Formats: sequence, C-alpha cells, structure tokens
Amino acid sequence: MRLDAGGSVSVGERFTSFVDPGALLGRAITRLTGIRDTDLAGAPPADVVVAQLAKFMGDVPVVGHNVGFDLAFLERAGLPPRQRLDTVELASILMPTAPTYALQSLAAAAAITPDAAHRALDDALTCAAVLGDLARKARELPPAVLEEAQAYAPLLGAPFVEFFRDALASSVRGAWTDARIQTPPPIAVAQPPAAALAVAPVFAHDGPLARRLAGYEERSQQRDLAAAIERAFADGGPLVAEAGTGVGKSLAYLVPALSRALAGERVIVSTHTLPLQDQLVRKDLPALQEALGTRVAVTVLKGRSNYLCPRRWQQFRGVAQTREEARLALKTLVWRLGTTTGDRAELNLLGAKSELWSRVSADDETCDARRCARVAGGCYLQRARDAAAKSGLVVTNHALLLQDARMRGALLPTAEHLVVDEAHRLEEVATDAFRVALEDRLVRRALDRVSRAPAVTAALRDDRVDAAETLRREVAAAHERAGEVFAALGAVLDPRALEDRLRVTPGLRASDERWLPVELAGERLADAVAGVMTATDRLAARTTDEDEQAELASAAAELTGIRSAVARGIHNPRAGDIVWLERRAEGDVVLRVAPSHLGEAIRRGLVEPRRSAVFTSATLAVADSFAFAMDRFGRAPSARRSTTRRRRSSSCPMTARSRATRSSRTRPPRPSPRSAASSRAGPSSSSPRTPRCATSPRGSGRSRSPVSPC
Ligand code: SF4
Repeated sequence: MRLDAGGSVSVGERFTSFVDPGALLGRAITRLTGIRDTDLAGAPPADVVVAQLAKFMGDVPVVGHNVGFDLAFLERAGLPPRQRLDTVELASILMPTAPTYALQSLAAAAAITPDAAHRALDDALTCAAVLGDLARKARELPPAVLEEAQAYAPLLGAPFVEFFRDALASSVRGAWTDARIQTPPPIAVAQPPAAALAVAPVFAHDGPLARRLAGYEERSQQRDLAAAIERAFADGGPLVAEAGTGVGKSLAYLVPALSRALAGERVIVSTHTLPLQDQLVRKDLPALQEALGTRVAVTVLKGRSNYLCPRRWQQFRGVAQTREEARLALKTLVWRLGTTTGDRAELNLLGAKSELWSRVSADDETCDARRCARVAGGCYLQRARDAAAKSGLVVTNHALLLQDARMRGALLPTAEHLVVDEAHRLEEVATDAFRVALEDRLVRRALDRVSRAPAVTAALRDDRVDAAETLRREVAAAHERAGEVFAALGAVLDPRALEDRLRVTPGLRASDERWLPVELAGERLADAVAGVMTATDRLAARTTDEDEQAELASAAAELTGIRSAVARGIHNPRAGDIVWLERRAEGDVVLRVAPSHLGEAIRRGLVEPRRSAVFTSATLAVADSFAFAMDRFGRAPSARRSTTRRRRSSSCPMTARSRATRSSRTRPPRPSPRSAASSRAGPSSSSPRTPRCATSPRGSGRSRSPVSPC
C-alpha cells in the first residue's frame, strides 16, 4: 500500500493464501474466522507460502497491528527479518487517551467499516485504513511537535522516522496556533460565605430533595445520620458512624458538608475507591447542588504520582535513550497539547510505559513550587492544589489523606472538617502510608534514577566526567550489594515453605543462622548507598544548573529511604515496629516494616488538625461494638468517660445501644477492620440497617492499632 500526501491510503497488489497448518483446526479458530478444515485441503505448507510472501513484499517495511506477533510466526517459517511499522504503537502515541488500541475499536473511532474481521486480508485492509487515519492525525500536530517526534523516531525504527518526516513535510502549516492548545478552566472564585443550611428540612418529606432530586425517598435512618454528622461538625471531635447499604450515607454527609462550606468552612471528603469518588463528584454532588440551588466549589485532589510534573518531564525528554522512553516521551508530548489536568488517569499507559511514569510524575516530595513558578504551561499539581485551596469541598482518597498526615499537612489544604467514607479501609491504607519496604525493584529503580540523572548525563560530556564516572561506579557497586541482600533475604524465606510470609522476630534475629548473612549484606549495601550519596553530593557541588541539582537531590532522597529501610528492617528495628518478609507473586522477596500502633498516627494526622472528623462505612462495629473503630479513629471510648461524650452520644438514635454494648464487652483480640468486615458478612438485609454512631471528645486517650501481617 502507499500512504499518499494528505493521509489517504491506496492499496496496490494483494497477496492472500491459505496455509496447510499440518493439523486440524480447533473449534475456536473456526468460530472466530469462519475457516474450516475443508478450506485448507490442498493448501501449500507454510515455508512455500512464506517464500512467495517474501518475494511479493520485496524490501519494503511491513505495516501491521501488533505486527511483532505475526512477524514472529513468519520469521520462524523463514521470512527474513525486516523493518516494521506497528499501528498499535502509532495509535498509542497519536491517541494517548484512547481507552483501547484494539484494531476494531480504532476503526470504529475513525468511522472505518471493515468488510469482515479476523480474516487476514480483511484485517490487513482495516489496518491500512487505520494507518491512513493515524497519518491524518499526525499531520494535524504542530510542526514543533512533529520535529521533536522525528528526533525520537530513530529509537523506534526507520519506518517511524519516515512516517513522522512525511507528516512534518505535509503538516497543515498554520493550522496550529497557540489558541488550540488547551488552557485550564479558570479556578472557581470562592463564594462569599452564606448562611449554613439547616440540614433537617433538606431531608423532610416536602423538602428540596423530595421536590427536586429524582428517585429521592425519605429515610429516617438517613435523616438521623445527617443530623448526627451535622452535630459532630458543630460540636467537634471524632464521630464513628456505621450505616449499612441503603441508608444513603453519601447524601447524609454531603448535605451537612455543603452546609459548612456555605458557611465559609472547608470539608475534606475522602474515599478509598475510585468508583465512589466518581459517584460523589460526577453524580451526587452535581445533583445535590442543583436540588439545593447551591454553588459550592468542589475540587478533586489526587496523590502526587497522578500528575505529570512538567519540570521532570522536560528533563526526561532530554535523556530518552530507549524505545520505551521514546514512546512515553512521544505519547506525553501529544497528550500535553490537549490535557488541562495533567492527570495520568486520562492516559492509556500500559506495560513499561506505566513503570516509566514515575520518572515524569510529580511524585517527588522535594519539589519546590516557587522554583517552578515559571515552568512552561504551569504545574498541574500546583494548579489542582490552588483550586482545592479555593474550594469549600475537597474530594480526595485515603492514600493522599494518609500521605498528607505523614507529611504533616503539606499536601492538602487546611480544612475544618473531615469525612472519611469507606473508613473500614483506612487502617490498611495507613499501614501502607507509614510503612517502609526494602524491595529489589524499587532499590534498583532508585539507583538507576541517580545514574541516569540529567546532571550525570551532562557531566559525562564535559570536564566533570571524572565525578560522573565515579558516581556510576558507586551505583554499579550498590547494585551488586543489593543483589547480595536480596539473595540472603530469599534464603531466610525458604521458597519451599508453604507460607509466603515470615515475621522477623527478635528470636529469629538472635538464633537463625540464615539471618547473619542478611545483616552483613545489609551493612555492605548501606555503605554502598552512602558511597553513592557522597558521589552525588560531589557532583551536585560541581553543577550550577538548578534543575539538575534538584533532580540529584530528589534522587538522593530516595536513597535515604533505602538506608532507612535497611536500618529499620535489618539492623535497628524500632520499638513498636513489625518486620516481616514477604514473597510476591513474581517470586521476589520484600522486607517490610510497619508500625504496630497506627491509631496514634491517625489521631494525630487526621483528627487533631481538624475541628471534627467523621468516619463512616457500611461495616465498622466489631462484635456489635464501636470500641475497635473508635480506638483506631479517635480514642478508645472506654479510656475516659466524659459527660460530653455521653451528651453527644445520646444524639444518635443507636448510641444508647452502642454505649451499653461498649461498656459490657471487651475489645476483640486484634482483628483487622477487613477481617472484621468479612466476619460480619451475612445475608443481605432487604431493608437498610439503622445507622449507628459513636463519638468522643478530641485529644484524649491513646489509640492502639495492631497490624498483624504474619
Ligand atoms: S512544583 Fe515543579 S517540581 Fe513540583 S510538580 Fe510542579 S513542576 Fe514539578
């Protein structure tokens, strides 16, 4: 086929032949393709057909969809290797946000109607038409982008060079103006505080929800829960509220939250799962605001790793050296023309590109927004934070909430109130946020990040070459030492053992002869990492470029994490830490360290910085008591009794029962909320369970949160 100027494809000669497979066809093949064994009777064998095909093709490159798969078969049957242009690869670059790159989906998106599918010639013709569509898309890109694409194309192969050269030569000159580059919508201006809503009338049978919200049914449980949350916001302190399916707890906390936002306060709502977050932001809040006639600014704030960091991305583009790096650079180059959020969720990132995302994401705790104030196109993360800081309601997820707690409020805007939905998952996320891990893949990625830092690449080309080479030698040594550590850890966790986890107890450290090699290898790794850090400092001292220094500092900070994991996991476990070995499905062994008492961290990081904190979920009580949940989220209710608590508790319809239950039971023996939830799972009730609440005054009592990984 020929790709003409303008992107149209003309198909010339065609070659098609059946091949004798030397075996009967499976039913699945017949069902998929319609080919029967009788069709193949008398067909030539594969080597004969491949020889004919090679002659037909001459020396032109092959175009195909996921073409490596087909070429692998043909090359095994004797086709000489040849240049290839893969339409999956092109589509992934030119359509960065497409949900799928399946041939039929790309054809449908381009309004191409194939004659048939899953037959070789028909699929080849569809592929040719898709290539034409991709060529047209490429021609519509700004010339500057196509020039950069041409620079990366040699890493993908000669046909890609030609493809982008053609696109540049016939790109629609002048079609691209700055006006076509997406600019983010202006950040909503905070509304002046208005009077807070009275919550009870909103839920009344003749209230605004009944009148204007499609499908709304008055539910006493929902009204009671909303009233309890409204009081918690007014009185302060933590509230733990269990509300089963059907109660409508989202509205029960969103209405009081909007009410506080209207009064000029800020409420953070955190969910564990994306579907719930989506439901709140796309469905519940817009419908609710419309029914109530409110216009409270709402912002979704995700974890740093979700946003593209334009500064790191700029550096990454400068050092892309591999095929995968070139693919990610090209894909994000095209994507940046259209995104206003820089949110990774918009991108279809698969395989290695997903791994590489960490090199361009904003997941860099050492980044400095002031230094990036003038970064081209602005910082997406900063923009999202600015929007959150001007919003009355911020919707986030547990991971970011806990990361913010760990970083003492550096990530989320200050807020008077917090609502944690799906609170039964909070402890598990907190365990992730507060734990450290020594993991082969992460150690090597951190080391590689140092040796590939732009400062190192630049220094290898100038008079700092000695410093750069020393640094790379230190990194190579650290890689070796890391190999020794993971080999020693692997020997401790016997691969033949049935368990894939092993707790590293003081007894094991003292008496298991397999632990000593771990300690020795750990010492050598810590020394090697220290060597890398020293070499990094020396190179940074000879670097004047601020961005290069920042990237080196950030890479060195990751190395600090490795040393901390070695110290806490191998040599000096902290009191209260639990250390364990875990064999992952991939077969590698990870050493993990987690604090055993997370309740204190949750109280300090989530409850204390805010006037009130509501923890809600369908399953929170354990053995009919909130003691366990209160212990984790606020304080142990039995730790100190106060009239305040009793007064507040009595406001909830079920608190009297809860309190009675609390006082007559002891805390169950260290179940995790997850296991608690599953132990409660029973036949679902047709009517919603009555919500149950427990409150406590802030700042008293110690929380204990056992983690039982082993
Ligand atoms: S502030 Fe700078 S370094 Fe940090 S995420 Fe934004 S652009 Fe990247």
